[in-house]
Amino acid sequence: TAATGEVTTPHVPTELPPRIQHFIDGAFVDSVDGGTFDVLEPVTNSTYLQAAAGQKADIDRAVHAARSAFDDGPWPHLLARERNRILNKIADIVESTDARLAELETYDSGLPITQALGQARRAAENFRFFADLIVAQSDDTYKVPGRQVNYVNRKPKGVAGLITPWNTPFMLESWKLAPALASGCTVVLKPAEFTPLSASLWPAIFREAGVPDGVFNLVNGLGEDAGDALVKHPDVQLISFTGESATGQLIFANAALTLKGLSMELGGKSPAIVFADADLDAALDSTLFGVFSLNGERCTAGSRILVERSIYDDFVRRYAERATKIKVGDPHDPQTEVGALVHPEHYAKVTGYIDIGRTEARLVAGGERPEGLPTGNYVQPTVFADVPSTARIFQEEIFGPVVAITPFDSEEEALRLANDVKYGLAAYVWTSDLERAHNFAQRIDAGMVWLNSHNVRDLRTPFGGVKASGLGHEGGYRSLDFYSDQQAVHISL
Ligand code: NAD
Repeated sequence: TAATGEVTTPHVPTELPPRIQHFIDGAFVDSVDGGTFDVLEPVTNSTYLQAAAGQKADIDRAVHAARSAFDDGPWPHLLARERNRILNKIADIVESTDARLAELETYDSGLPITQALGQARRAAENFRFFADLIVAQSDDTYKVPGRQVNYVNRKPKGVAGLITPWNTPFMLESWKLAPALASGCTVVLKPAEFTPLSASLWPAIFREAGVPDGVFNLVNGLGEDAGDALVKHPDVQLISFTGESATGQLIFANAALTLKGLSMELGGKSPAIVFADADLDAALDSTLFGVFSLNGERCTAGSRILVERSIYDDFVRRYAERATKIKVGDPHDPQTEVGALVHPEHYAKVTGYIDIGRTEARLVAGGERPEGLPTGNYVQPTVFADVPSTARIFQEEIFGPVVAITPFDSEEEALRLANDVKYGLAAYVWTSDLERAHNFAQRIDAGMVWLNSHNVRDLRTPFGGVKASGLGHEGGYRSLDFYSDQQAVHISL
């Protein structure tokens, strides 16, 4: 529906680059065929930049550079201490430019500025964390007395292909770049085509920190062109992918041709289960944050809330009331809590699900374009109640500020509902009965469970999903293992 109000104009960062290029072997370059694609900002949906549209020829150049840097350059052979220093420098630079980074991210992706700032800091932390891990790392040695010594010789795998999505793009790129580089791999990064702006900062950051040419390469472009060529390239040893489950399936099939290592962080439809004995105020705060922070464009969003029947009506009423008070607006305004969705295509997907939801469940908050924001990809925080488990809004990932609330009568029913989707990324359990919390958590099909808490996690813990939410776990030494070969060396005594 139409809303009244002025057409908003976005805050435009100063000194935007004139265009976005690839970065290959230490140099900024255009696509071999000169092709570009449009980059939009989500407040007016106008094209503000052209980015180089990478094709197979560009991926070939980037992989060649990464391969040469791996085979002939110093990077894989540096002492852990030396790589640690460079990674810490990267972290320092990211931290010192966090305001600029957040400004660009907000402009390109529509993320509220205060939340974009948090993501920039987290990106710096990822580099510090993996820098620390590599200097503390030890490998195993096994002795068979009088007969044999066996030890593990850890080696970087080679050229890592990194393919990332448009939600919190810079931070998610850092979650792959940091362990790949820490392990001694060289990389080709293919960022998401909706949001290439913040990735264009990496080359200067790496150069200033002293990363040798060819170690980090960046190719922009569409998934079906640049991404596809990276997945199929015979000289790329592994692909770390974050994105939709359907894309993950396609990549899985395409990577089979060259038998690549794969790490996949995919979609989610994570449940928050609220029992009647929970601290309701805390559960309300957390479940609102869980689906409405980061514009709901968050893989671990608690997008289904299962509530015990005896508190259901009260919970739904209070939740809907709070949701209508969330401030939707200009992503650059520090007061804004929900900004603009990333792209008109994604906006159409999310509003399409809201239309479907109206036919499947009871709308108790939102559902419209917010007042005063007649243009741009703005959606009111939207709450559906009485959502049956057969509903599409219960089963499918919407990836926006839309939540489905469903009542349950028993612990068994709550567990059945929690597990009744194809995904298994995260889950949140709210109860004051600790025994129940642990027993319930351990039976949920989810890679990560938060008890009476949300989303803060120690970077040493496993990160990843089960079922359609992913393949493999990263986090802590698991990430370094993914980017490394562990050769067993045996010698007789
Ligand atoms: P997407 O799958 O559309 O795209 C992700 C990346 O894959 C992009 O860079 C895209 O260009 C590339 N790509 C697309 N087709 C390709 C192909 N055929 N070959 C190679 N690369 C290809 O995902 P998106 O819409 O950018 O991101 C949102 C999705 O990411 C959601 O499903 C969300 O849950 C998921 N996600 C998961 C996590 C996690 O850690 N589990 C984190 C963030 C986002």
